[in-house]
Amino acid sequence: MGSFKLKLVTWFALLALLPLTVAFYGYNSLTSRSETRRADAALDAGLRGAVAGYGARLNDATAEARRLADDPALQQALRRHDKRALAKIAARDPGARFSFVAGGPGAVSVLDHGHVLGSVAVRVPIDARLVRALDAGLSPSVHLVAARFGRIVAGVGLGGPLALEPGRAARVKVGKSEYRGLQTAPLARPKGFVFAVLEPQSSIDAAGRSSEGRLFVALLASLVVFGVVTYLLARSITGTLRRLAEAANGIARGRFGERVEVRGRDEFAELGTAFNRMAAQLEQRLIELETERSRMRDATARFGEALAATHDPGQLVRIVVESAVESTGARGGVVLGPDGEIARAGDPDAGAERIAFPLRVGSSDFGQLVIAADSFDAEQVEIAASLANQVVVALENARLHHIVERQALVDSLTGLANRRSLEETLRSELARAVRFGYDVCVVFSDLDYFKRVNDRYGHAAGDDVLKAFAAALRETVRESDVAGRWGGEEFALVLTGTDSAGGARLAERARAAIEARVVRMPDGEELSVTASFGVASYPECEELGELLAAADSALYEAKREGRNRVVVAPESSTSKIV
Ligand code: GH3
Ligand code: MG
Ligand code: MG
Repeated sequence: MGSFKLKLVTWFALLALLPLTVAFYGYNSLTSRSETRRADAALDAGLRGAVAGYGARLNDATAEARRLADDPALQQALRRHDKRALAKIAARDPGARFSFVAGGPGAVSVLDHGHVLGSVAVRVPIDARLVRALDAGLSPSVHLVAARFGRIVAGVGLGGPLALEPGRAARVKVGKSEYRGLQTAPLARPKGFVFAVLEPQSSIDAAGRSSEGRLFVALLASLVVFGVVTYLLARSITGTLRRLAEAANGIARGRFGERVEVRGRDEFAELGTAFNRMAAQLEQRLIELETERSRMRDATARFGEALAATHDPGQLVRIVVESAVESTGARGGVVLGPDGEIARAGDPDAGAERIAFPLRVGSSDFGQLVIAADSFDAEQVEIAASLANQVVVALENARLHHIVERQALVDSLTGLANRRSLEETLRSELARAVRFGYDVCVVFSDLDYFKRVNDRYGHAAGDDVLKAFAAALRETVRESDVAGRWGGEEFALVLTGTDSAGGARLAERARAAIEARVVRMPDGEELSVTASFGVASYPECEELGELLAAADSALYEAKREGRNRVVVAPESSTSKIV
């Protein structure tokens, strides 16, 4: 963060420094040039002033000469060549010069009726006095000097050389100091004299330096202002960026409630607004996903529990069609078995798209699951396929469970109840009989000379005889009675609500039925078998063991009595033949 701020400030400072430096140097040379020009103008004005002052003095001198020329005393003295009188007049006017001949340039002739008596000239000497007087009218920093043939004759640097070109201002060294100077062209009279004005270079430079200093301070101040403004700007930018980065990091760590404060209406504000919108979208999406996930979790859990809880195929197919419709958001669904519809949910005929999932595993075919909706995406199809796969396993488990359950209670050869089932039935029927006070009758039966059948026709034929006997028994008993195989070729009947007499009558019917039945043997021979029966009942025998033993004894008695008959156990220990 800090580095970006530093970069920004450095960049802007460079950006500002470059033009400012160029401007500084440009302006600086401009001011120094203008300072020189100002000095040159001052020199020019000063020189003009000095020359004008000298001209005025010359005019005064000429006027004075004219006044003297009109003086009769002078005229008299000249006429008479009276040198003493002339000396007296000259003493009154020290600058005046008299001549007895016509004077040269600058002299005024003294006339007497058109006749030249002589001439008068009033001199203005170019000396230290004149220079001082003229200099007094100039600005204090400008000095007036007079020079003749390149050498200073009055003013500063007296006696030293003065190397200037007429009319052109230039740097010049006078004595030990540097000046800027301007001189006149040499005067015609007195010959070779020039006036020059000098301004010390140091004072021109000082003026330039002071304006340079002011400029430098102004530039420095503007640079500082620029720097401060840039720093504040950079701080505001980096602050905004930092807040954005912090919020983004918060979201990256799962804090989807993070938002940034939006200030102003610039691009950063736009960025902040866009960021907040994105965060809100993410948060909303996450909530939806969470809801969806928990719905799926609940549905899956319910589905799993339901699958585990039941072995009822009807309930299983109902669960799968409901779960498939709920978890895919389908309009409806149906499970079709080999003989048509088994279960449905919603409206399976609605929607344009229909997908069928076969409910098949190994050799078992439970039909198909069909779901309908306006459209399905890949994920929904996958979910429904997964549900179908799971329910197929549950259906197969239910099928196997049913088989095992049956196998546990049914004799595989005859299809009658097995001994375990018989014993359970007897026990529960006896308990009910005790509670509600009704009779329970047990009939034992054993095929007569069955060993011979086996011996003669083989075991398979013996099995056929056993099946035939079982069929005879099944046909004889009522719906509420239970016929079962006690073991080997022994069978038992449990007759609820029947006493010994009723049991004996039923046994007799069974006996007659088996006697009448003909079983065809493998060699084509027709075989008839008989069986013996023993009957005992509750409440004559109160205990289960007692009841079984009594029935068994009765059966034994029937065998002993000659077989193919029914014997009822006696109420006492004696057996009785029917
Ligand atoms: P009885 O009962 O009249 O005294 O004579 P039995 O020949 O029937 O004598 P027993 O009851 O001792 O003989 C039982 C025979 O039944 C022995 C066995 O070979 C036969 N057996 C037992 N269970 C089966 C079976 O499941 N299938 C076949 N085929 N035979 C069986
Ligand atoms: Mg037997
Ligand atoms: Mg037998």
